[in-house]
Amino acid sequence: MQAQAQFALRQNPDGSLDSICLSCDATAATATTDEALRELEKKHVCYDWNTPERLAERMKFSA
Ligand SMILES: [Zn+2]
Repeated sequence: MQAQAQFALRQNPDGSLDSICLSCDATAATATTDEALRELEKKHVCYDWNTPERLAERMKFSA
C-alpha cells in the first residue's frame, strides 16, 4: 500500500509558488500557477528518510 503524498504551498517573494512535500520535506515543485504545480507534484519522488546519505543531503539544504 502506498501513502499518497501531501503538499503544502508556500508563496515566494517573487510571486511564484513552492510545493513542499509533507512526507519528505523536499520542495517538490516551484511554479507560477497551481496547474503547473500539480503536474510537477506528480513527478515528485520522495526521499528516503532513513538513509544517511539522504539525511546528510537534508542538512546541506537546510544550511
Ligand atoms: Zn516527498
